Amino acid sequence: MSDLDALKRRVTDEVDGLCDELIRIADTIHACPEVAFQEHEAAALLSGTLEAKGFALDRGVAGLETAFVASLRGLGVSPRVAFLAEYDALPELGHACGHNLIGAAAVGAGLAMQVVLPELEGVIYVIGTPAEEQHGGKAIMAEAGIFDGLDAAMMVHPSSRNMTRRKSLTSHRVNIEFFGKAAHAAASPDMGINALDALVLTFNGINALRQHLRGDARVHGIVTHGGSAHNVVPDYAAGSFGVRAADTRYAAEVLEKVRACAEAGARAAGARLEFTELGLPYDAMMPNPVLADLADANMALLGVEVREPGPDERMGSTDMGNVSAVVPAIHAYISVGPDELTVHSVEFREVSVSPAGHAGMLQAAKLMAMTAVDLLAEPDNVRRIRRAFEDQTGRQPDEGD
Ligand SMILES: [Zn+2]
Ligand SMILES: [Zn+2]
Repeated sequence: MSDLDALKRRVTDEVDGLCDELIRIADTIHACPEVAFQEHEAAALLSGTLEAKGFALDRGVAGLETAFVASLRGLGVSPRVAFLAEYDALPELGHACGHNLIGAAAVGAGLAMQVVLPELEGVIYVIGTPAEEQHGGKAIMAEAGIFDGLDAAMMVHPSSRNMTRRKSLTSHRVNIEFFGKAAHAAASPDMGINALDALVLTFNGINALRQHLRGDARVHGIVTHGGSAHNVVPDYAAGSFGVRAADTRYAAEVLEKVRACAEAGARAAGARLEFTELGLPYDAMMPNPVLADLADANMALLGVEVREPGPDERMGSTDMGNVSAVVPAIHAYISVGPDELTVHSVEFREVSVSPAGHAGMLQAAKLMAMTAVDLLAEPDNVRRIRRAFEDQTGRQPDEGD
């Protein structure tokens, strides 16, 4: 057995040794689902576990109460490798995206590295990233420079398949509001300005636009306000929309086309438009190919079959994309169920607290720790990852201070 294999064996054995504790953490978070920026119990449990085992803790980073950075130093200060934890739940559905497993896996990987860190150069970080489902905690943290200076960032999401190279769509979230003038809908409709008409025309404009968009573009919306009574001309109407595409530049182009649809609706109805982008966009995920190669090799060592996405892969969005835009990163997936299992379902919520979910969480922890060993024990891998990032982006990873 090579030195590298021996190090990997030690970290995977450590994950097995931590099995009961990690399952308890995952199940505790699952039992108390907390939505975006309300994840106080989950953040305290994950960060507290790391702190109790000797990690240095920085809480409330980037101005987010439920974000944290835990770190543990080995022999030197580089490379710097981070495992990212998510732990927010979905409104009403609870942990139907399995973020309880993501949080426990990141902590598991961090604790496992503790057994080899005294002999290796580098620093291990476990970074707590809140509000993936709604507000993009990682986007805010990336903007604040929290990930700057990392040589690699990784996370693993539970899924129906094992993957290391799945991408995601850039996603803008917008509110479209129209302001008109109320009047009696039968007695004096000519005195009113119909804000709902402006919104309906916006939907029709978007439906016409869709034929002329690239296949990867997605525009989807709902009406959140459509008036108060049928006998009153609606003086206020509003909708909530998502605008997505495979790359950041095209997503911005589609967003401008959607804005034009709303402007046309406002002009036709005589209403005033307010077009508001909510928060920062989620960037498209850009998996680092060298980091993905290393993870693939470790998947094979774990006896896990990787099935990478084909060209027609259906995708959502993740704020991990914003991390991949500033430092080398992967967002891997580990299978916890059959092909037909999809996230954001009651079935996925049940899997996330089942033996299959627990097994996936332990494999995720092993995968990340083994891949970190590849970086800390083999500095050439870090150089290759960095070169691949420069090839992808045309610039260097953000260095930080
Ligand atoms: Zn989700
Ligand atoms: Zn998720």
